[in-house]
Amino acid sequence: MANRDAEETKLRGIAASPGICIGRAYLVDQEGVDVVSKYSVMESNLRDEIKRFKTAVKNAKDELRSIIENTPEELHPHANILETHLVLFEDKMLYDRTIETIEKEKVNAEWAFKKVVSGVKSMFQNIKNSYLKERAEDIIHVSQRIMRKLVGVEAVNIGDIDKRVILVAHDLSPADASQIKTDKIMGLVTERGGRASHTGIIARALEIPAVMGLDHATKLIKNDDLIIVDGSTGIVITRPAEQTLADYGGRQIRYREYQTAVSRDSHLLAETTDGFIVPVMGNIELSDEAASVVEHGGDGIGLYRTEFQYLSGARFPKESELFEKYKRVVEMMAPKPVTIRTLDINGDKAVNGFFDDAENNPALGLRAIRYCLKNPDVFKTQLRAILRAAVFGNVRIMFPMISSCEEVREAKRLLNEAADSLAEEGETFRRDIKIGIMVEVPSAVVMADLLAEEVDFFSIGTNDLIQYLLAIDRDNTDVSHLFQPLNPAIIRMMKHVCDVGGEKGVQVFMCGEMAGEPLYIPLLLGLGINELSMNPQSIPAVKSTIRVLSAKDAGRFAEDVLRRPSASEVMKLLRNEYGDILSDKVYTE
Ligand code: PEP
Ligand code: MG
Repeated sequence: MANRDAEETKLRGIAASPGICIGRAYLVDQEGVDVVSKYSVMESNLRDEIKRFKTAVKNAKDELRSIIENTPEELHPHANILETHLVLFEDKMLYDRTIETIEKEKVNAEWAFKKVVSGVKSMFQNIKNSYLKERAEDIIHVSQRIMRKLVGVEAVNIGDIDKRVILVAHDLSPADASQIKTDKIMGLVTERGGRASHTGIIARALEIPAVMGLDHATKLIKNDDLIIVDGSTGIVITRPAEQTLADYGGRQIRYREYQTAVSRDSHLLAETTDGFIVPVMGNIELSDEAASVVEHGGDGIGLYRTEFQYLSGARFPKESELFEKYKRVVEMMAPKPVTIRTLDINGDKAVNGFFDDAENNPALGLRAIRYCLKNPDVFKTQLRAILRAAVFGNVRIMFPMISSCEEVREAKRLLNEAADSLAEEGETFRRDIKIGIMVEVPSAVVMADLLAEEVDFFSIGTNDLIQYLLAIDRDNTDVSHLFQPLNPAIIRMMKHVCDVGGEKGVQVFMCGEMAGEPLYIPLLLGLGINELSMNPQSIPAVKSTIRVLSAKDAGRFAEDVLRRPSASEVMKLLRNEYGDILSDKVYTE
């Protein structure tokens, strides 16, 4: 009978950083210390106990500082993620509450600290928003570092690993990820995290394949197992058969050759065979990622998600702090456009006490523009920073989650107020910038003709449009098989927006994940999307895809697609029609 352990197994997670690697698994337990004992501390010893806690925090902080100082050159842009961790060490929620608990309950520091951290974890438990979840992860990483100092356990130092391996971990903090040496660590597999997590961002910056959000990875994969990680499809194969190894070995070579080939002319514009130029832009979450857009040949920034700067600190950033970040990006990209999307935050509780009172349904709650219109001071601070940064290059402003004309009018009214206040103060700024909206709520699609009267451009956000139109929670892995970009309902919505844009002279862009997938490009071109924006690494492949397509043929093809009743039939048609032309560009399992 076959040994079940020896059988090849295919596991599925989130494709967080593209590419393929094959190698031995190296399991790292970054979970830290779970078992701590509780004991009472006499009144007279409480001061010493508190001092012991403070020393542990200081040592943990010093350790992180030295990690930041020793961060390799190529990761310097990401060191600011770790700098935000430094601030968290003295976060009231952790620091003050632990000291209070030691004093009030007269218990040892480990126990008090563990109790406080458990409280924070349970507050975060029901939060669905991925950004907030990831900020909760930051707090947990910091607390694990403190706990290890308190109980005197040293963690595995990723930077000390001296074999060529693939890291497999429950979770990896950005500090751990920043210690990765790419000549040693070939790839990453984690149970936690996703594309938008800081560790996902670092993996992409290092250009190592990563699959994240793979449930039970540390149980299903054993130390030293031979594994294949395909970060383009989110597949991990354990104990692969000879044939599978040969197959993936071939894919790996083709992927590398392809990357080299497409990167050669990624700095040139992408023009179809019949002369249509399609700007290919980058999406960024942090200002430092603008460098990656430039490096991969992006024609500008089609989506600057600005919420990270709000979610990583204990308070909201000041106008001057926002201005400095925006200015850097705008100057770096000038004269290419930078589309700054205003705050897409998931509820005011992100600042004050959101831990105590999470929304039941954050995706349908006080998110994005709804939050900003309810908090005009926060909104105007950001708008003023954007208008000031606009002086340094080519800025567009974009409002997220628009669902009605009133919201756009109100947002524009506040933008005017922000401009007026700058004028009164004699500040230098630019008023004449292009204004656009994300089209990501179905009502915005239905109202597109009226919304077109208010704005200069639309940008289709497929990540949310699919979520809201098909009623599929984008973060829920149980329904992820229904999250279909090629669902005919989605395609019809995109067609409607493109048609309205054409009639009304409003440009139609796309900045959802769909825009970065080569196989979808013929359809997007055929529907009449004017500009595409994606994660920077996908830019070369998408540009090279556009260059082998004819816009006219793609238009005819889109007509055919619109008659197909299901996502699988659309996919079949795409493969029949374009499978050959795009065979080297499409990642399949
Ligand atoms: C989208 O919804 O498609 C989008 C690009 O925005 P985000 O992923 O930031 O919600
Ligand atoms: Mg969105």
